[in-house]
Amino acid sequence: MLKIQALEDLVTELARLPGVGPKSAERLAYHILRSSDTKAEALASAIMRVKSEVKECRKCFNYTVHDECYYCQASERTDHIICVVEEPSAIERIEQSRVFKGRYHVLHGAIAPLLGVTPQKLKIQPLVNRVKAGFEEGSKSPKIDEIIFALDADLEGDTTILYISEQLNSFPIKMSRLAQGIPIGSGMTYLDERTLGSALQNRVEIGSYSSFDRG
Ligand SMILES: [Zn+2]
Repeated sequence: MLKIQALEDLVTELARLPGVGPKSAERLAYHILRSSDTKAEALASAIMRVKSEVKECRKCFNYTVHDECYYCQASERTDHIICVVEEPSAIERIEQSRVFKGRYHVLHGAIAPLLGVTPQKLKIQPLVNRVKAGFEEGSKSPKIDEIIFALDADLEGDTTILYISEQLNSFPIKMSRLAQGIPIGSGMTYLDERTLGSALQNRVEIGSYSSFDRG
């Protein structure tokens, strides 16, 4: 580079973004340098605004600017089914399929021990607490009947489903995952809404996790 620290710092930061290699980072940095002050400031302030205004929903950990997100506040949705996703972006994809009318829970990742992502780093305990709260006597929390796992169809997704279902196996709830048919190894991001819609409708129950007879 040109031995200009400010420029090198910008390239370094941009190269940290997912999917941006060193070459693209350099191209973006030069683009920002050439753009008007107004445009550069708009970019910088948009970054600062998402950091200061957007937070996690206190119930489901989706992103929101309020205490609770749009889907937790929506009164016409059923409280008894929770769809568990890895990332908030998956919620939008599921909504496009128009099949699901329950609530959500965002884990913010999937278990990947080799990458240091342990269950404790994900929003798994709050999910267990959410389920547990509904079964407590006299509780005002909604009783969960069913959990649908809409995680990526890969090793991390499978590990996460197994772990959570073991945490919840003492509760009389139905647990299912999206039907296979989603290409193995593919992420939620690349599914068209018809594939995702039918995968949701044809979801499959995950073994027999409960000793309770659901009757
Ligand atoms: Zn929420």
